[in-house]
Amino acid sequence: MLSDKNAVITGGTRGIGKAIALKFAENGADVAIMATSESDAARQTLAQLKSLGSDARLYVCDVRNPEEVSRMSEMILADYGRIDILVNNAGITRDNILPALKDSDIDDVIDVNLKGCMYVTRAFIRSFVKHRCGNIINISSVVGLMGNKGQANYAASKAGIIGFTKTVAREYGKRNIRCNAIAPGYIATEMTAALDEEMTRAIAESLPLGVLGEPEDVAELVLFLAGNASRYITGEVIKVDGGMYV
Ligand code: NDP
Repeated sequence: MLSDKNAVITGGTRGIGKAIALKFAENGADVAIMATSESDAARQTLAQLKSLGSDARLYVCDVRNPEEVSRMSEMILADYGRIDILVNNAGITRDNILPALKDSDIDDVIDVNLKGCMYVTRAFIRSFVKHRCGNIINISSVVGLMGNKGQANYAASKAGIIGFTKTVAREYGKRNIRCNAIAPGYIATEMTAALDEEMTRAIAESLPLGVLGEPEDVAELVLFLAGNASRYITGEVIKVDGGMYV
């Protein structure tokens, strides 16, 4: 489905990003991953991707740093020749009620989740325009649509991604560049492992489908948006949330 396609995934070392990378590789894509370090998780993911036949490479790049993003994107374009798909997945949480949020909690979350998404997209957009082809998929969150107690910084960053997604869709649709966002609900990853067991059970029980999602559930939707079956979809926000926000 994605043979001859080259993809970049930010934060592709673990959790949802890893599931997306594996899904792409299984479907024939070559995958470049951006992450903060050459961690054990990164090395393991790379090995798995390569065993699937993907020309997979890791680029150590903090998405908060525009110079680093610019340098790494040039390196990626030089290595792969052309990028077809960009998945902005890197994200963090620093949860607390509003009065207890430190300046750094606000800055870090906005810098990684929102500014990082903009920096990376900006770094690749010229190349998409040049090739008159591109597909951008941004990982937002259902809390960017509905808000969530204790996540003012995170919800604002994810809502920002939605505005950014719609703008890129409008600006670049005529250049054959699509841009969509995915809004996952609770997905079982290291990010949600921070919640205690009782809270996790309560969340699951509150969901219409009664269980947390798996990274694979998000990856399936990313694959759909990355492929030709979704060629007439742009500027859209699609939830994968077990009915959390119906
Ligand atoms: P994880 O914490 O499991 O993984 C986060 C990934 O982001 C890691 O690969 C990490 O790389 C990377 N990353 C973090 N900071 C940076 C940075 N400054 N520069 C580059 N890469 C960075 O998260 P999830 O898999 O759970 O989440 C993935 C995305 O999905 C996030 O955007 C998250 O907000 C979103 N999401 C998750 C939900 C969930 O329930 N899990 C729900 C809704 C949305 P490294 O390994 O180097 O640290």
